[in-house]
Amino acid sequence: MTLPAYRSLYTYPWDIADIGVTQFVDEVLAMGITDVTLATAYHTGKFIRPHAKNPPRVIFPEDGVSYFDPDVERYGEIKPQPHSEPTMRTVLPALLQDGRVKVHGWTVLLHNTRLGSAFPQYTVKNAFGDSYVYSLCPMQTAVFDYAVNLCADLTHQHQLSSIVLETPGWLPYAHGYHHEFAQVASNTWLDNMLGMCFCDACQSAAKNRDINIDALQTRVQDNIKNYLALPANANADQAASWTQSDLLSDADLLAFISLRQDRVTQLVAEIRAAISADCELAVIPTVQRPTAACWTEGSDLKALSEVADYIEIPFYEPSANRAIADAWESLRQIAHPEKIRAILRPGLPDLNQGAELGAAIAGIQALGIKDFAFYNYGLLPQYQLDHLAKTVKECK
Ligand SMILES: [Zn+2]
Repeated sequence: MTLPAYRSLYTYPWDIADIGVTQFVDEVLAMGITDVTLATAYHTGKFIRPHAKNPPRVIFPEDGVSYFDPDVERYGEIKPQPHSEPTMRTVLPALLQDGRVKVHGWTVLLHNTRLGSAFPQYTVKNAFGDSYVYSLCPMQTAVFDYAVNLCADLTHQHQLSSIVLETPGWLPYAHGYHHEFAQVASNTWLDNMLGMCFCDACQSAAKNRDINIDALQTRVQDNIKNYLALPANANADQAASWTQSDLLSDADLLAFISLRQDRVTQLVAEIRAAISADCELAVIPTVQRPTAACWTEGSDLKALSEVADYIEIPFYEPSANRAIADAWESLRQIAHPEKIRAILRPGLPDLNQGAELGAAIAGIQALGIKDFAFYNYGLLPQYQLDHLAKTVKECK
């Protein structure tokens, strides 16, 4: 028996509340969509809603809240905060009650500025000790426990088909805060240096593995300071080669990166063990391009694919060609196409040309990947949703 393929639409609760669950489900079923990946814990942002029926036209969602009622008794030191409007917490049970689409819980774990502000001692600290308020460090036991408890609580209260984890590791440096300003040209090498965490928990974990973390931290500080004093900028190819060269020559750096990957794999394995047995677990391994850079966030694709049911990969690329190449590389690591779910953005800034979406789906399907999700119901203009519906039907 072949299971029906996953054809999911990423959706925010406020966009469903806007038209009501029944009309929303009617609409997505008519598009050929069978699944909805609904935000169940989410960060803030500033989103334009092109086809909204009711205000707001531009929404600033509450930061770092859950879209279900957490059972606070389950939690330790860090507890989730439910959205302040009860309506936002009724969408999930109503969608499950409707029963016509499979429901997946899109759960942002450690990118949470509200919790980072409340628990600065558990945030990522760069090589200089500066705290990144938008990013909780998974090496911290209280943070690890929060992530496990959140997923267990959600899946034991609600019969989700799967839970989709986002940001189970360390956020990249260049993601996550309002008005990120720099008058220094960014590059991946500098971002990696600035993104590594040297908090007390990361330092102790490194020492336990006999990594000379103090010397590594000093090298990273010097790298950043000296680069920022250079009256020139590295180009992208130079920065990528510098990173490769560092990884080959710096054994402590490599060991530290492995330690971070092991921690994220451990967190995902623990979540798998804690959630409801009939709920599947998917992990979004990265918030950057290309997928192969996910090691900077602590993701090890192969190891994650062994502890999770699915790796759900945002192939967010401007062309079908790039999306297909990225899928090929992801398969080289994961080896089992049935464990990969693809996410495509059928509009700006990605696959916004008529035939590109269909070409991306067909090319990725040809590699053996059958499951697709699309991003995002409320953000796409109506004509892009119409184009998506047409393409989904053609690509059956
Ligand atoms: Zn840390």
